[in-house]
Amino acid sequence: MAVEDERTFVMVKPDGVHRGLIGEIISRLESRGLKLVAAKFMQIDRELAEEHYSEHTDKPFFEELISFITAGPVLAMAWEGADATRQVRRMMGETDPAEAAPGTIRGDFGLDLGRNVIHGADHEDVGANERELSLFFEPADFVDYERNDETWLYE
Ligand code: GDP
Repeated sequence: MAVEDERTFVMVKPDGVHRGLIGEIISRLESRGLKLVAAKFMQIDRELAEEHYSEHTDKPFFEELISFITAGPVLAMAWEGADATRQVRRMMGETDPAEAAPGTIRGDFGLDLGRNVIHGADHEDVGANERELSLFFEPADFVDYERNDETWLYE
């Protein structure tokens, strides 16, 4: 495994689940070469939602955001790979799907800021992965293995 590997938190939001996009999203991350190391299909309760989005508590859209993220099941995941956090963010595209480039997940599957299909930890916030991963997972949830194709993914 490449020494620069990092672990990042990713979540298919309720709109992505209801719209049948779980497979598509996993497929893109897998095909890119990222490695799935934890996954939990779950319903987020209000307490967890408020904690996860605590940086947005004072924003005018906070209530909408909390009701959206608790409105249906989500797939919470941890993915590993070289530069994983930034690469996932690039694959997600801009926060607003209307501005996200075609070819990105949000740019291909969304039109509305309040329905943007996927969450990924912010690569510019150094503590984000650790904080979010520990909100959704226990240490024992992470599976340690090597992808069989790693020698063909990394030089
Ligand atoms: P992200 O890191 O790209 O997800 O973006 P942010 O951390 O800035 O915002 C978190 C989430 O809040 C976004 O993914 C959107 O789901 C939601 N959000 C951000 N801005 C708005 C807004 O103006 N209206 C609504 N309804 N939701 C928003």
